[in-house]
Amino acid sequence: LSDRLEGAWKKLRGQDKISESNIQDALREVRRALLEADVNLQVVKQFVADVQEQAQGAEVVQGVSPDQQFIKIVHDELVGLMGETNVPLAEVEELPTVVLMAGLQGTGKTTASAKLALHLRKQSRNCLMIAADVYRPAAIDQLMTLGKQIDVPVFQLGADAKPLDIVRQGLDQAKADGINTVIIDTAGRLQIDPQMMAELAQIKELSQPHEVLLVVDAMTGQEAANLTRTFHQEIGITGAILTKLDGDTRGGAALSVRQISGQPIKFVGVGEKVEALQPFYPDRMASRILGMGDVLTLVEKAQEEVDFAEAEKLQKKILEAQFDFDDFLKQMRLLKNMGSLGGIMKMIPGMNKLSGDQLEHGEAQLKRAESMINSMTRQERKQPDLLAGSPSRRRRIAQGAGMKLDDVSKLVSDFQKMRTLMQQMGQGQFPGMGGMGGM
Ligand code: GDP
Ligand code: MG
Repeated sequence: LSDRLEGAWKKLRGQDKISESNIQDALREVRRALLEADVNLQVVKQFVADVQEQAQGAEVVQGVSPDQQFIKIVHDELVGLMGETNVPLAEVEELPTVVLMAGLQGTGKTTASAKLALHLRKQSRNCLMIAADVYRPAAIDQLMTLGKQIDVPVFQLGADAKPLDIVRQGLDQAKADGINTVIIDTAGRLQIDPQMMAELAQIKELSQPHEVLLVVDAMTGQEAANLTRTFHQEIGITGAILTKLDGDTRGGAALSVRQISGQPIKFVGVGEKVEALQPFYPDRMASRILGMGDVLTLVEKAQEEVDFAEAEKLQKKILEAQFDFDDFLKQMRLLKNMGSLGGIMKMIPGMNKLSGDQLEHGEAQLKRAESMINSMTRQERKQPDLLAGSPSRRRRIAQGAGMKLDDVSKLVSDFQKMRTLMQQMGQGQFPGMGGMGGM
């Protein structure tokens, strides 16, 4: 346990600033996490470089390592980047609001059209869906079936009509019927295709949509970047719907889409059912992409619990060898606030090697120490040396805490060793470990 405390103590001193060298491991972790989440390689490079530059020189929070703090900064940056998405779907005064769905074949455009219509209907926005995909024979039927299921009308002219005609007439119908929002379901191709793009551009020109939503399959991975670039350059998108997030993907496509287009993800699809649409939650997505929830929790806790002014006072006391039992107690309570010792160890990567027995032992030791300190007088806490010279004081404390004289004697001598050691560490000397005894 003493090695662990030494490491923890170095962190609690909080003298680190984030530098390129002390976040090497974190950088590697973050890059790996992003690539594993299928964020496009170029996007990863750019993003990591941006965050690194921004984090450089930041003071490290007491109680965490520069690595951990860097990961938190990355996380916050990810949230920020994806975070302006609570902008609801456009709604215009002069009805109807027009939403154009775009994307490759099979990404979930038709399904998403119905999901969106249902979502809007729940907000009392009545919708009309326009079936403008005349290329896949079953596409119109599919939309009709979905429309029935959610009780939303579908405008269609069969598979022989031209998409532009369908859209024109559909919009007229919507205006005549006082429809609030029109959702245009379009055809996709398996790959980006000039003809598809040209048709989509024409539909956009004709319908003047208030939203052009790129529907992206979350499983698309690396390709999401190219896809977004092409659609955004050629059509211009106002947002995206990320579908199939119920799969086992980590959702890195979200970052690619956002970084490349600058446009928000508005919704995510989380299943085949029409109800399976959710607003996009940036922080959930950031944690999912990083896959480091535990580390983030730890960093957040540390930021909450650590009182900077208090920590500075403590540091000064240590350097002047004035660290007393009261400070010791504060330090222990700080650890406790952050959760059980075992819980903290488990959250720190590479620090979870302590056996359950060792952890329990460590926590029990801390509890015992606390009860002994509670039995000390104020003066004794402030002047630990009083105890070293007085067996009768130690005996009284042992009785008060329900322990043996030896226990108190050991606490006092361990404390003195620890104080010396901390003072040396505080002055930048790192003696071989040995002190702190069984503490
Ligand atoms: P489109 O070609 O872009 O119109 O795609 P479709 O709407 O026809 O969807 C293609 C397939 O993906 C269908 O089998 C859908 O049920 C399925 N799908 C769509 N969205 C989701 C989703 O969020 N999760 C899952 N698991 N499947 C989805
Ligand atoms: Mg379709």
